[in-house]
This record gives sequence, C-alpha cells and structure tokens, in this order.
Amino acid sequence: MAQQDDVFKKIVSHAKEYGFVFPSSEIYDGLSAVYDYGQNGVELKNNIKRYWWDAMTLLHENIVGIDSAIFMHPTIWKASGHVDAFNDPLIDNRDSKKRYRADVLIEDCLAKYDEKIAKEIAKAAKRFGDSFDEAQFCATNGRVMDLKARRDALHERFSVAMNDNNLDELRQIIVDEEIVCPISGTKNWTEVRQFNLMFKTEMGSTADGSMTVYLRPETAQGIFVNYLNVQKTGRMRIPFGIAQIGKAFRNEIVARQFIFRMREFEQMEMQFFVRPGEELKWFAQWKEWRLKWHKALGMGDEKYRYHDHDKLAHYANAATDIEFRMPFGFKEVEGIHSRTNFDLSQHQKFSGKKIEYFDPELNEHYTPYVIETSIGVDRMFLSILCSSYDEELLPNGETRTVLHLPAPLAPVKCAVLPLVRKDGLPEKAREIVDELKFDFATHYEEKDAIGKRYRRQDAIGTPFCITVDHQTLEDNTVTLRERDSMEQTRVSVDDLHKLIHDRVSLASLLRKLK
Ligand code: ATP
Repeated sequence: MAQQDDVFKKIVSHAKEYGFVFPSSEIYDGLSAVYDYGQNGVELKNNIKRYWWDAMTLLHENIVGIDSAIFMHPTIWKASGHVDAFNDPLIDNRDSKKRYRADVLIEDCLAKYDEKIAKEIAKAAKRFGDSFDEAQFCATNGRVMDLKARRDALHERFSVAMNDNNLDELRQIIVDEEIVCPISGTKNWTEVRQFNLMFKTEMGSTADGSMTVYLRPETAQGIFVNYLNVQKTGRMRIPFGIAQIGKAFRNEIVARQFIFRMREFEQMEMQFFVRPGEELKWFAQWKEWRLKWHKALGMGDEKYRYHDHDKLAHYANAATDIEFRMPFGFKEVEGIHSRTNFDLSQHQKFSGKKIEYFDPELNEHYTPYVIETSIGVDRMFLSILCSSYDEELLPNGETRTVLHLPAPLAPVKCAVLPLVRKDGLPEKAREIVDELKFDFATHYEEKDAIGKRYRRQDAIGTPFCITVDHQTLEDNTVTLRERDSMEQTRVSVDDLHKLIHDRVSLASLLRKLK
C-alpha cells in the first residue's frame, strides 16, 4: 500500500510539473478540493469529452445533446429530492477535530475484511500450489469462514441502516466495529448528523427580494426539465436520449485523493427515455455499452469491474457503478442508474405541466422511464493519468517517465524536432509543422539535445516525435519515433499524415465501439 501511495504522490506532482493539473488559487495557498487544468490538462480533458460526446451523439442517431444553465429554478431541487435528501451522514472525531463520512468509514472497514480474506486465500494458494481449490478452501477454512460471516453481517446491518436513514445505528456500527480515527487513533466520536451537499447563493438584489438558488449538484435535472422542449422540437421518438456535459458542484465533507473528489467538477450525463416496463432491458444494454466505451481505450480490461448497488437511491430501481482500479483501490468512475419515471413525474407534479409522451405504436400516453449514464470527467481523467503513468528502466540504466496515454486522447499528437538549430533544419521542420497542424496538435521544439526533447514529449504522452536531420534535406525523409516502443523508423514526409492519423484519430477509437 505504501508503495501505491508513493506512486500516487508521484502522479500528482507529475500532473503539476507538466501542466496537467494545478491546485486552484495556488498563490493564495489553494482552495480545498478545487483544481485548475493546465495547458496539457485542458487538451486531455477536452479529448475525453469529445470521445464521450461523439460516442453518444454520432454513434446513436437517437441521442442529441443540450447545454443547460447551471442556475435553475430552485423548485427543481425540491422536486428532485435534493433539498430534502441530498445528504451525507457526517461524524467528527473529538480529539483530532477531523470530520468523516460515516458511511465511508464503514465501507473502509468492509474493505479491510475483504483484504484480510484475500490475504488468507493468497497465502493458502501459495502453500498448496497447483492443487489449490479456492472454493473448497473458502467453504472449509475456519478463519476465512469467520471473517466472511462477520463481513456479511456488517454489510447487512450497514445496508439496513443506510436504507432506513438510521443515523444512531450508523454510529453504533462504528462503535461496535471499534473503528478509530486515522489521525488521532481514538474512538471518541460525536453523533452522526446529516449534511446537505448543495451550495446555495442569492439571485437578485435584496432590495427587490432575492431568491435562494443552488449551484447544480448534477447536470441531469437540466435534461429532465428540457425533456419536452427537446422531444417536441427534435420530433424525438422513444426510445431516445439527451446528453449533456457540464459543471456540477457538491460541498463534499471529505474531499480527498486529488481530483477524485472535488467540490467543483464536471459530469457527462445521458438520460435515455424508454417505455415503462422496458427499463431493465435498456439498463442491461447501457451497462454493456458503457463498459465497452471504457475498455476501447486499451488500458487493460482487468482494471474495470461492475459494482451493483445494494442501497438504491430514492428514485432508482436498479443501479451499478463501473469501477476502475486506481492506485488507492477500485473506485467508482461512472454510475448507471435506472431512475424509473421518478424525475419526470416529480417535475410534472411540482410545475403543474403535463410531461407525457404519446406512443403512436401503442396508441398510449405515458410518462417515460429513464436510464441514466453518469460519468465524472475528472475521475475519468484521473483513471487515465494513473493507468498511463510509468517509470521505465532503460537498458542503459536510465529511467524514463512516460505517459502511455491512449493516442487519440493525448494532448499533443506529434512533435517536430530539428536535430540542430542551423543548416536550414529549423525551416524544414517548420514546413512540416505547417502541414500537420491543421489536423493534429503539433509541437515544434528546437531547444536542448534530442534525447532531452524526447523525454519531455514522453512525459506529456506525445505518441510521435518527428526528427528532421540533414538527410531530410536530401531525400525528404524523417525519423519517426514511437513513444511506447521508442522505435525509430525512417519514413517519407509525404507519408507522415497517414501514419499519424491511423494511430491518433478519434474515429479509430469510435470504430471499436461498433
Ligand atoms: P460518490 O459515491 O463517489 O460520492 P456518487 O455516487 O455520489 O459518487 P453520482 O452522483 O452517481 O456519484 O455522480 C456520477 C459521477 O460523477 C460519479 O461516478 C463520479 O465520476 C462523478 N462525481 C461525483 N461526485 C464527484 C466529486 N465530488 N468529484 C469528482 N467527480 C464526482
């Protein structure tokens, strides 16, 4: 674990050093859980968003996009349940004065049971070698059976307490499991309280009578309240979807793990409207499609898993997360929810406007059911950064730090490097840049030795370096160096466009989703 912590720290400082992510307001000592994206970060982030947007709107002729405002009528949040129920249970340790989410403390405790069980299994597997039968071992080994029974009992008790919103019981679980504060090491806990995560602000001057408005905690409601507008003006027929990318704000109690949990973040959400009764079929379909979208990036299939929810949100009848293996464990990157017709019905009730669909095939009016796919841009960014970061030991004993970013998402696609700063090589290199820059994000670099320049491009994940040397002036060929293999091949300048395009185009990624 300590090693993983070290790797994570290195990734965070790499992200800063190479212009991916900066702490917000850094010259004023920062603002907790708020971050800014730098010159390379913004490009990577935009490419992630484009990959998602195109996968939704280009590959599905029945999905369209919108961009709704962050401020919305405050009654929307009453209707959606956020004013009354968008809470986290928080608990304080009286000695360290640190605040925690009670549910997260218990989830961490459950994860510890899982770790202990996994350790026992790994130990036995080593001892018994090829003849090891894991199922039989788990069903007969006293220690594993005991750990499993305690874990399952805790899990059951936790699920019931969360479903019943039973704050006293959550505290009692923390006491009974002897969970200690990681800072003070004591069990001196306060009561558990509910804490609403929405940021409030005032709209209008107080003299005119101002109104309390919220910074949206999710983009989804902007889609629901535009359902009728889009359905009517786009003449959309069910099933159809509306996609949106935009900022969301949550006053998270415990903001940690860099950009994993932020107070201002970005979401990519898609609401897919379906016939009542068909929602679970579509839920299964979207689960599959979304995992495929992740896996197409080629970061390793073993890094993903589904996590089905035991505790369903008040609006859902099925929910699952796509989790990614971060250096700090498997964590949610995307949620897929079957939200029933809860939101549209609530908006119908609170606004007094009829929100229904006339289904010409069924000759029937109904309130559509909704499948939602909701992914955090920043978490996706973090998963890509973590999975791409590598420190490679080279045959000459040097270490190179490289980001093996999926090529279509890389901030810079190719760098053109004149070997020396004379003899007409810079001019030739500029000519090549002027050809490539219309299609690819292209860097020109002439400072420092070539090896140093390669390292700088490796560190930001540039898939190709193009080196211009004296031979280029004679036969119009250059050296094309590939980031991951470091292989160098001599190619004609005329072939560059195609060679680069084949690797870095977003279309090549989207084709994998067919
Ligand atoms: P968590 O359980 O981690 O708080 P959540 O289940 O509340 O997340 P959702 O409401 O389902 O999250 O939001 C959908 C997606 O938005 C998440 O899968 C995640 O990628 C992203 N997200 C949610 N909260 C944050 C945050 N504070 N910072 C960054 N991304 C977030």
